[in-house]
Amino acid sequence: MKLHMQILIALGLGIKRNGHIFIGLIAGIILGIILHKYQFTSEGEINKNVALIISILNVIGQMFIRLIQMIVIPLVCSAIIVGISSISDSRQLGKFGFKMVLYYGIITVIAVTIGSVLTLFVKPGVGVQQFISQSSSAIVQSQVKEAYIQQQDNLAQIFINMVPQNPISSIAQGDMIPVLVFALIFAVALAKVGDISRPIVGFFESVFAATMKVTDWVMNLAAPGVFALTTVAVSSFGAGIFSGLSGYFGVLIIGLLIQLCCVYPILMKLFSKVPVAVFFASITEAMMVAFGTASSSATLPLTMACCEKRGISHKVCSFVLPLGATLNMDATALFQTVAVIFLTQAYDVSLSVFQIIQIAFFAIVASSTCAGIPGAGLITIAVILNGLGLTAEQLVEGFAFLFAIDRILDMFRTMLNVTSDAVVAAIVADNENELNYEMLNNFDEQELIE
Ligand code: ASP
Repeated sequence: MKLHMQILIALGLGIKRNGHIFIGLIAGIILGIILHKYQFTSEGEINKNVALIISILNVIGQMFIRLIQMIVIPLVCSAIIVGISSISDSRQLGKFGFKMVLYYGIITVIAVTIGSVLTLFVKPGVGVQQFISQSSSAIVQSQVKEAYIQQQDNLAQIFINMVPQNPISSIAQGDMIPVLVFALIFAVALAKVGDISRPIVGFFESVFAATMKVTDWVMNLAAPGVFALTTVAVSSFGAGIFSGLSGYFGVLIIGLLIQLCCVYPILMKLFSKVPVAVFFASITEAMMVAFGTASSSATLPLTMACCEKRGISHKVCSFVLPLGATLNMDATALFQTVAVIFLTQAYDVSLSVFQIIQIAFFAIVASSTCAGIPGAGLITIAVILNGLGLTAEQLVEGFAFLFAIDRILDMFRTMLNVTSDAVVAAIVADNENELNYEMLNNFDEQELIE
C-alpha cells in the first residue's frame, strides 16, 4: 500500500482508538463555529449567553492545559536525569545526540525547502496587500509593534539566554531551554561520579514515575479539555477566516500535509525498519492533544507516554523528546518561511535567491529557539523579517495580519512538531537497538493496516 495511504489509515485507526478525544475535537470545531456566528445579537450587542459559554469553556480548557503544564518541568528534569545518568557510556550518549541532531536537522531543512518552493510557486501573497491593511486593527497593530520591537534585535540575546544563570529561577519561570541545558549537564555529571549519584538518581526515578502516573490521570480529561480549548479557539475566528485567504491557508496546509504524509514516512523507511503505519496509529492521541493545546511542551508528557508504551526505550525518550519539544519545530519553520515569503509577495518586494536562503536559514534558527507554547512561532518571525526591504509600517501591519489568523495554523503546526519529535525518537531508537519491536508490533491494529 502507498505510504501516504498507510498514514491516513493509521491515523484513522488511531482516531478510532481515541474516539472520545476526536469527538471532543470535532464537537469543539462545530460549537466554535456556531458560537462565533451568534456572538452578537441582532441589535449588534454582545450575546451574553454566548460570552458565558465561552468563558466557562475557557476556564475548563485553561485548567486542562495547566494540569499538563504543571508536570512538564518535573517530568523533563527527572526524565533527562534518569535517562542520561543510565547511559554510562559517553560514546553512546554522543551517538544519540549526533543522530538526534542529524534527523531533526534533515526534517527541518526539508520543511523550509517545501515551504519556500510552494510559496514561490503558488504566490499566495500576490494581490492581498489591501486585505492585509484592512484586516489588522489599530489595537492589534500596537500590540504587535511592541512584540516586534522586543524580538527584532534579539538573536544574540536568545543564544545568551539559553545558558541558565540560576537554574532554580529558570525552573520557577518555566524557561524550557535553560532548564534543559542545566538538566543535561547535571545528568552527565551524575553519570560520571559513579555510585555516589544513587540517592539523587533514585529520587528522580520516583519523581519520574509519579509524573507519568499524573499524566495518565490527566489524559482521562483529554476529551473535555480538547473540546473546551478547540471551541474557544475556533469561536474567536469562525469559519469565515478560510475564505479570502485560501491561498495562504492552502499553501500552508499542503506543505504540512507533504511533511506529514510523505517526508516523515519516507525518512522512517529510509533510516529505520519501524513499521510506519503502526507507529503513526500509536501516537495519534498525542497528535490530537497537540492540536487542541497548540503547545508542544504541554503535550510532552503524553508524547513520552505514547512512545514509551510503544516500546521506545526510556533512554531515548528521555533524551530525544524533551529536546525535540523545544528545539525541533520543523512545522513552525515551514510556517515561518511561508509567512515571510507571503508578506514579501503581498508588498511586492522581490527576493533574491540569497534572500530566500537567508529566510530559510533564519526560519530554522528562529523555530529552534522558540518555546513550545501557543503563538511562539509567530512572535519569533520578527527575527526573520528583519532586513527584507519592508518598511516599518508594512512589517507591523503584515505581522499584525498574521497574528489575527494564527491560532488555527498554530494548532496544525504544533500537531506536526509533536509528530516529528516522536518520529525522530523512533528512528534513533531503531538505529541504536533501543526499540522493543515486540511491544510495538503487538499494537492491536497492525493486522488491519498491512
Ligand atoms: N505552538 C507551537 C508549538 O508549541 C510553536 C509555534 O508557535 O509554532 O510547537
